[in-house]
Amino acid sequence: MLPVARRTAEGLATASGRGVRATYVTLQCDSGGYGERGCGVRAFVVTGPGRSEVAEVPRPAPAPGQVVVDIERVGVCGTDVELFTGDMAYLPQGHAAYPMRLGHEWCGTVSAVGDGVDPAWLGRRTTGDTMLGCGACDRCRGGRPHVCEERFEVGIRGGFPGALAEQLAFPATALHPLPDAVDEVAGALIEPGGSALRAVAGAALRPAERLLVLGPGTIGLLVAMFALAQGAEVHVLGLPGPSLGFARTLGVHGAWTAGGLPRLPFDAVVDASTSRDLPALALDLVEPGKRVVFIGVAGRPSLIDTRALVLKDVTAVGILGASAGLAGTIDRYAAGSVNPRPLVAATVGLGQVGDVLAGWRPPGSGPGPKVHVDPRA
Ligand SMILES: [Zn+2]
Ligand SMILES: [Zn+2]
Repeated sequence: MLPVARRTAEGLATASGRGVRATYVTLQCDSGGYGERGCGVRAFVVTGPGRSEVAEVPRPAPAPGQVVVDIERVGVCGTDVELFTGDMAYLPQGHAAYPMRLGHEWCGTVSAVGDGVDPAWLGRRTTGDTMLGCGACDRCRGGRPHVCEERFEVGIRGGFPGALAEQLAFPATALHPLPDAVDEVAGALIEPGGSALRAVAGAALRPAERLLVLGPGTIGLLVAMFALAQGAEVHVLGLPGPSLGFARTLGVHGAWTAGGLPRLPFDAVVDASTSRDLPALALDLVEPGKRVVFIGVAGRPSLIDTRALVLKDVTAVGILGASAGLAGTIDRYAAGSVNPRPLVAATVGLGQVGDVLAGWRPPGSGPGPKVHVDPRA
């Protein structure tokens, strides 16, 4: 018998004219277990630092403006690990609290629509934006809902339930339909792809210019792949180990450790690492008059010397989230100019997510950095 919910928080988001608001109720499922009474759906819940369970939570119903998505695939990423371990900055800042439901890299099929939602969504395959602004403030109205002070980040911030569950209620206005050419593996890699594509745009490379990517994790490798697809010469810097060899299989022109990096002029450097030292190295290595892009977040303050920024006339770009990159990522995956599927090392069920977040790799995992979850498994 599968675990039964014990007072698990469930967000019931409602769409209003001003955007999305969530309220929270707790539900005590009767004993009897999942599936016997149709009480709820299975979801992965982090109950405290390093503690998790697969619980039965209330079956989501679509509020006005929402759909319910039957989730098919979810990616696990470093943000999820930080929320699981308790290291994520949103926890002490009060933007996130336990219990929480993770999952922001997802795809699935719409199985129900609420009032005011086009019924044509029923049966459509989709993914969605992680960043849900209030819709009312100057930032939202000015086209920057991803930095709205009141925003939800799905599965991360504000208690909006994530997609590591059999179903997810989600605002229709934040959906992105997926064409058939984007299967469920690629569909759950749209969200990290959107972040990476924004980073490549921030680098503002001209054709055949040279890019250096610091950190060969999922985001760094996607940055490399998008830049390769647009004709850049791409180099990757990482720690010694198999990740550099894996980067080479993706077609990068060079994959280096710090000691072996050739002295080449780099037209842009993207820091996709979590190292506190690499942002400053990015500024050291970039050509004067060019660009550094920061998308990685270190666990401690990672400082750059603004004198170097000024005296090299370098433009620094910070990237938060995928929003403006989602549509372009879907187009590139669908066209086949970027194939993200080799990044996925393994696919597990909800019951193994806690182990994955604690660092476990399933036996037989491939060389890629990403673990996917099939909540139906
Ligand atoms: Zn992520
Ligand atoms: Zn707002």
